[in-house]
Amino acid sequence: MIGKAWRAARSVVPPGHLDAAGCNVPSDRVFDAVVGHLRLERERGGYVAAPDLTEPKAFLATLVGQESPSSGGVAFVESGTAAMAALLGGWRLPPGSRVGFARTEYGSTLMLLRRLAADRSWTLVELPVDTDSRLDLAGLGSALAAGLDLVTLVHIASHRGVVQPAREAGALCRAAGVPLVLDACQSFGHTDVSGVGAAAYVGTSRKWLAGPRGVGFLIVPGLATDMDAAAPALGGHAWAADGSPEPLPGAIRYEGSEGAIASRAGLGVAVREYQELGPLDVHEHVVELGRTARHLLHGAGGWQVAEPLDEPSAIVTLRPPAGDSAEVARARAAEAGLLVGVAPVARAPLDLREPVLRVSPAPGTEAETLHTLARVLSAP
Ligand SMILES: *Cc1c(COP(=O)(O)O)cnc(C)c1O
Repeated sequence: MIGKAWRAARSVVPPGHLDAAGCNVPSDRVFDAVVGHLRLERERGGYVAAPDLTEPKAFLATLVGQESPSSGGVAFVESGTAAMAALLGGWRLPPGSRVGFARTEYGSTLMLLRRLAADRSWTLVELPVDTDSRLDLAGLGSALAAGLDLVTLVHIASHRGVVQPAREAGALCRAAGVPLVLDACQSFGHTDVSGVGAAAYVGTSRKWLAGPRGVGFLIVPGLATDMDAAAPALGGHAWAADGSPEPLPGAIRYEGSEGAIASRAGLGVAVREYQELGPLDVHEHVVELGRTARHLLHGAGGWQVAEPLDEPSAIVTLRPPAGDSAEVARARAAEAGLLVGVAPVARAPLDLREPVLRVSPAPGTEAETLHTLARVLSAP
């Protein structure tokens, strides 16, 4: 059902597309919304054409389980990376603050954390994980008891299909009064993000939500007084009476006013389509595809699935056998008409020892596509 509806909404899907976690395929409506908005900007003037995005923003807020969802806690920026940089870069944690993170942290966030820690005298505290790189909750509890001021967690990583225990981590952080930042770039459109109670969520458009490129977002259910954008800007800030920049109420402080507005309009439509399809049904469908893919691909040509085979996610990562590599296999897959991803070590330098092949089936992926990939992996 979901797969059919998803496919029917797209007159064009690249053949053998297995890279939803990299860049998914927008629907015709999303495509038309982007192009239509560009046309409107030209015809009416860009400022006049500005779309009303309160509805999709409010819906995004409901996805994280905000009790009285409003658009005011959601900011659209140009990417997940930009959202994280705006959030952490503007967070006025005092010198000596301790920031917990896990080894599965996304490469660019890790770079940002290292830079901020050096510049602002924060201490980075690596939280323990198990052999699947799943956060060790008892270890998080101990670290919180020993003193943390902020925790960052990647819900589902780009390089590993493990779903981290975000709700449990969120409950522990809340009980300790420590804000949690959840990187949900791979979660929105893919899995349930509600009930975590994080201080902030980072997301992106083009992955499982199948929006256009060039948009990311930040959901901040409750702004704390020490949270502001890294760079104040007109649109998100005003001049206070004493001549200093003062953030406007709400997440608009992170958004500013200039950006790829047509892409934001496209994301708005993608979010509405996800809502219409039914998030729970979408999740169930893609998770089933992920499981099918793991059981089919595990062992093919000696390739090893890195996460547990029944992990409830649609990110499937594979380690190469001796004599083969993720890059070479990706090229072979491309020759066979398949589009798969590679996660390089830089994506998560603390957690990856070698590049892995990443298979992330979008809704509607045919079993035959996965069988073709299994044959490609089996025959180097
Ligand atoms: C893609 C991704 C990001 C960064 O999002 P961009 O929109 O590419 O900047 C951050 N974290 C994770 C886990 C991701 O998969």
